[in-house]
Amino acid sequence: MVPTTSKPLRGVGSQASLKSAHRQTRPVVRSFDKRFARECASWVRAGGHGVLWDSPERARLVVPRFDRRDATDFGRWAILDLGKSTYGFARRGPLRGLVTTPVPRDALDVVRDRATRDSIHARPRRTISLDCRACGACCRDNEVVLTRVDRRRFKRANVAPPTIRRGGRVLLRLFKNGACTQLGAHNACGVYDARPDACRDFPPASECCLFAREEELGIIDGAPTA
Ligand code: SF4
Ligand code: SF4
Repeated sequence: MVPTTSKPLRGVGSQASLKSAHRQTRPVVRSFDKRFARECASWVRAGGHGVLWDSPERARLVVPRFDRRDATDFGRWAILDLGKSTYGFARRGPLRGLVTTPVPRDALDVVRDRATRDSIHARPRRTISLDCRACGACCRDNEVVLTRVDRRRFKRANVAPPTIRRGGRVLLRLFKNGACTQLGAHNACGVYDARPDACRDFPPASECCLFAREEELGIIDGAPTA
């Protein structure tokens, strides 16, 4: 399922989870020159994300194969965080079977920054500790697009969060300060049991989560936390 919430270019979705601090294992991003496509493929097959540089102005993001129906996959969210929803499967060469997508020109610095952030991690996967109740970053300055399913769920739960219409879509309304109107004390979601699919699917520790934390809270989750 394609997530139905978006924010220009980067930062998609939201989820003020009721969970307290929890540990999440996520991919480590590594840059590779095009001569090292084999090493890039091995890194990705071991669970990391690769950025394969054909030139300083041209790069591909490489992530493990994922199920198109899995809305929470880290690779999918790494692609969405580049402002893209399209990708392909490499059919030949060292990357065969892996998911690749060209990095848009205006996102080359984004993938450079991801690799710099993760350069302190030696292995393709790392564990990060996150506490959504101490964060709430993804519930600010977002665009949560409501589907029919979401609106039916609200009705069944007898809740009616304020909405706005924009470009033919129905969105959850934000306060002037950018916070979702449902974001309560201690970052609890006021409609948690009936929250929209976009909020349910948003994976803590995804690139979009880390971007939201950096943008809203100035936290760069590069330091070892495990
Ligand atoms: S409904 Fe609002 S507060 Fe609740 S998870 Fe979604 S964005 Fe966050
Ligand atoms: S940005 Fe990430 S850590 Fe923060 S509330 Fe959202 S999912 Fe949780």
